[in-house]
Amino acid sequence: LAMNYRGTRRIRLDHDKPIPEIEHPQDAIIKVTRSCICGSDLHLYNGNVPDTRIGSTFGHEFVGIVEEIGTDVQNIKVGDQVIVPFNIACGQCVFCEQELYASCHESNPQSTALGGIFGYSHIAGGHEGGQAEYVRVPYANVGPMVIPDNLDLDDAVLLTDIVPTGYQAAEMGGIQKGDTVVVFGAGPVGIMAAKCSWLFGAGRVIVIDQEEYRLDFVQKYADCEVYNFNSLEDPVKFIKQTTDWLGADVCIDAVGAEAAGDALQTITGRKLLLQAGSATALQWAINGVKKGGIVSVVGVYGPTGNLVPIGNVVNKGITVRAGQASVKRLLPKLIEHVQKGVLNPKELITHRIPLEEVADGYRIFSEKLDHVIKPVLIP
Ligand code: NAD
Ligand code: ZN
Repeated sequence: LAMNYRGTRRIRLDHDKPIPEIEHPQDAIIKVTRSCICGSDLHLYNGNVPDTRIGSTFGHEFVGIVEEIGTDVQNIKVGDQVIVPFNIACGQCVFCEQELYASCHESNPQSTALGGIFGYSHIAGGHEGGQAEYVRVPYANVGPMVIPDNLDLDDAVLLTDIVPTGYQAAEMGGIQKGDTVVVFGAGPVGIMAAKCSWLFGAGRVIVIDQEEYRLDFVQKYADCEVYNFNSLEDPVKFIKQTTDWLGADVCIDAVGAEAAGDALQTITGRKLLLQAGSATALQWAINGVKKGGIVSVVGVYGPTGNLVPIGNVVNKGITVRAGQASVKRLLPKLIEHVQKGVLNPKELITHRIPLEEVADGYRIFSEKLDHVIKPVLIP
């Protein structure tokens, strides 16, 4: 069984997909035990990522049991339970050498923009994803990490992406002791970014979204202030007012091109990843940060055509930092945080959905039904 993409907002269960085979001596085949749906999958689901091919299987957040290994795999063995980072990394190219695992050249050699990602279209290398019973994992000596005995599988599966992404969002923000941090987006990534901001010494953490149930959740989970942007006259003005007219020290964009589909605009015949809500989240971040402040962007955008108020970036002397999370770099530290109870990611899981019902899972997560925060598919 595997998730099968049939076109924009059309997902089917594939009963006949062949079980993947070892194609290279460094491959492993993983039998998936948990696989999440991510906000990033919604960009694919809504047809907003170029070169998403019909028939492909999504899924870049999974854990599982090693079923088979290639002849050159030594770091994991058959029967191990492993966490698999969403980035596919060779471990040896110029980028991997600098621990920039999201930028691995070998796992997506056609691209100068992105490293390889499981189940994330041909712009990320065309690798099949883990919303399936089995998945082929390339460079299996590099990415997969054996799950320690005392780590819950629900925590483990969230360590493949949203925990490191939220953490890296806060890290890239360069948060100094006492800083005011504003996080846009109270999805799983924004929630983790808010939680992790405290670990870097934030003095005040403010989260802005429009989904009341998510704001309620993050307020308790991350002990932060929350605001619904629909009830603010102007989020930028609000940020200024609440910071003595200085602006926030750090703004984090955990929204990205919120793939609402309808608002996708076609300009001069080119499909641009641009949606009113998403464009404003990045603009609010840039316009709401103080002079000399840092804007940290982990929200995913299309490669071209996003509107950045670059004049304000220049005039204010802002630093904009961005990136896909370098999961492997962060895993050892974050596993420790989870083991010590500093981070409790599994509390974000609201839905356990059998893989057979994957289409429902996408609909629920995409339409934010039933107070969903993070859905996990169980094969
Ligand atoms: P999600 O879709 O569940 O959450 C997005 C949230 O943003 C929603 O709650 C939505 O209501 C809110 N939102 C929409 N417009 C807004 C606005 N203008 N201001 C404030 N909030 C707004 O997604 P998620 O899983 O939390 O992921 C968030 C983003 O992070 C996505 O773009 C995803 O692709 C990206 N992501 C990046 C990485 C990375 O490595 N950089 C990894 C995982 C996810
Ligand atoms: Zn993800």
